[in-house]
Amino acid sequence: MKHLITPNDLSNNEILELFEDAKLFSDLTSNSILNGKLVVTLFFESSTRTRSSFEIAAKRLGAEVVNLEVYTSSTNKGETVEDTVANLNAMKPDAIIIRHKDCGLPESLKSYVNCPIINAGDGKNAHPTQALLDLFTINEHFNGEIAGKNIAIVGDIANSRVATSNLELLPRFGLNPILVAPKRFKVISPYKTVTNIKKVLNELDIIMSLRVQHERHEVTATAEKQAQQKAKYVKKYCITKKLLGDKEMLLLHPGPVNRNIDISDEMLLDPRSKVLKQVENGVAVRMAILKKFILENKVC
Ligand code: ASP
Repeated sequence: MKHLITPNDLSNNEILELFEDAKLFSDLTSNSILNGKLVVTLFFESSTRTRSSFEIAAKRLGAEVVNLEVYTSSTNKGETVEDTVANLNAMKPDAIIIRHKDCGLPESLKSYVNCPIINAGDGKNAHPTQALLDLFTINEHFNGEIAGKNIAIVGDIANSRVATSNLELLPRFGLNPILVAPKRFKVISPYKTVTNIKKVLNELDIIMSLRVQHERHEVTATAEKQAQQKAKYVKKYCITKKLLGDKEMLLLHPGPVNRNIDISDEMLLDPRSKVLKQVENGVAVRMAILKKFILENKVC
């Protein structure tokens, strides 16, 4: 059984094939490819885009979708996640899409199911479908000429699963990541790392801005210190029109965007910002992923 836990579960060829399918699905119209199939979404962490994107993708392919209300599910009655998943599996779904705050949880559930598990985000560990839709958007923007392009990943790299999965995926297709973060959000990495984006701006083709992942921080600072930290962060890391000037750039963000902290209002309206294009592409890419993982896996 093939599962999608990290981008490394797919070869480069498989990814290129997925992208061919995603292009065919890019008008997001309905078809009957997954008629009679059943997809379960199981989100233990909040989500707007990813969950609705998977649900719309599955429905556009003709599948039925059951969204499990995790906060009213049996895990609140003391059941383990493993037992919840084993019970869902007994109802014979064709795929289970899961998001959880614990790193490694989707991987550990593989032995409890007879259908593909698709990781919709586990803690700061991985978010493979986000990285795939990011790569798809980059590839589309540059008409496939992406090898050698420099991409700055800006912000809370240490706590971002989007950063982790993109750092796993993008170099496989010849992209050069440059990490831009304050000391507290840096990671040990083989890639060039700077604290000041201005130092590398001229080298960049793409900027991927990230949200500060407050939900994964241990709060020790006083409210006053936090306000100071935030003001400093905005000054240095918010992507503004003043910073970019007229420079050509592809500006990405996985959402949700914290306006005027991650990216300014003005920059979000700028044609260089492709944040909504990422959302649109996300549905097409997830359609391709669901098709591949459901039809190529032996049905439970
Ligand atoms: N939506 C992305 C995630 O689930 C990014 C974020 O939340 O900042 O990781």
